[in-house]
Amino acid sequence: MSKIRTTEEICLLCKINKSDKKGSHYTPAGITKRVIGERDKEELYTICSHEAETSTYYGRSNLSNKDPEIRKPPHVDDYIFCTECEKRLGIIESECNNPLIVLTDALAAGKLTISKTKNGNKYYSFSSPNRNIIIIYFYSIIWRQCLQQELEIGSVFISKVFQEQLREIIHTEISKPIMEIEKSKDFENYPPLIILTTYHKGDSTTNFITPHPTPSNPQLFFIGTYINLIKHSEQASVDFETKTGFPSTLLEKDLVINFWHEGLIGIVNEGVWNNVITKLAKLETEKFLHNMATRLSIAKRLPYEDSRWQLHLCAENLKSKYPNNYVKCLQLSLEHLLR
Ligand SMILES: [Zn+2]
Repeated sequence: MSKIRTTEEICLLCKINKSDKKGSHYTPAGITKRVIGERDKEELYTICSHEAETSTYYGRSNLSNKDPEIRKPPHVDDYIFCTECEKRLGIIESECNNPLIVLTDALAAGKLTISKTKNGNKYYSFSSPNRNIIIIYFYSIIWRQCLQQELEIGSVFISKVFQEQLREIIHTEISKPIMEIEKSKDFENYPPLIILTTYHKGDSTTNFITPHPTPSNPQLFFIGTYINLIKHSEQASVDFETKTGFPSTLLEKDLVINFWHEGLIGIVNEGVWNNVITKLAKLETEKFLHNMATRLSIAKRLPYEDSRWQLHLCAENLKSKYPNNYVKCLQLSLEHLLR
């Protein structure tokens, strides 16, 4: 359960002003609204642990579903930032939100010129929005997703030291005029970032808004139609591929936006994207099922395996009613079995 913050606390970004701003987004609505609103056949799977009582996971999927419970925005909080920081974040967001949506649309429509790195990875390069603005935009979302995790479940994904480093970079940069951020030479020395997207052509593409629950280096952050890979310490994960589902050949210098002279976004095919998404979904569904089975087993004094089996059977029966929402089936099953 997240702690309720007040206006009397200090802004978590500048650490100077009082946190007087209401309705701050952890992940900007501008980057996810297209996914949720217009591509009604896609699924948006939000991991929102604070909503579940005892589980560490709360999933909502299939937003085309008319269930009001599913449509409640889960990425907003009051009194985390001050008005000034919120305004400055808004300036960066207004530079990036729309162009990034236009870009994925153009990619899907086959309107972009795609190049290849030496390793054969596909990418798209662009001059607007400016490279540094894009980097600071995604840093701010990565940092805010970490903050959300910390406030909501108290867990820290990447080290406190790294989070603080990111906070300082974001605060320093967004305090400058746009022109000055654009001209800065510091970005080559900031944490290496790889931004990935896919074609998003069919209705089979699923997107998440969350840090990847498995720690890795680089760490994955799901930002709607984009996935960010940020290097947060020296030693890269040797088992990166097993952990994430992404081929380790993606981890090449040529895809790191910081080392490129302009904007750079790596493109993976839908198969690779879905592989990563499916891996995460399975992992989370398993955690969710485990937590529910534990709850049922305690409440009904049943052996754990029996509880798990009952939940599974009950959820299977509901599958035809909620075909794309297994988590919902599990939740309804638990409610039913606890009666
Ligand atoms: Zn502030």
